[in-house]
Amino acid sequence: TYVVTENCIACKYTDCVEVCPVDCFYEGENMLVIHPDECIDCGVCEPECPADAIRPDTEPDMDKWVEFNRKYSEAW
Ligand code: SF4
Repeated sequence: TYVVTENCIACKYTDCVEVCPVDCFYEGENMLVIHPDECIDCGVCEPECPADAIRPDTEPDMDKWVEFNRKYSEAW
């Protein structure tokens, strides 16, 4: 899965949301999040993010971000 990380805070772009083929972006408290079970790992959102906030969970120390993205995407 891909996850949204802290660089998203205060970013007003929503280009990532528009390109996602499965609509798995959700609004968190002050940033967007990706539902980790709905993301199909296509990667098309990553280059759309001007803040470089969208990262694959295969990078180091992403567990807390996966949980964060899950928590806020399931709040809806
Ligand atoms: Fe959506 Fe693909 Fe990004 Fe996952 S990797 S959030 S499916 S655009």
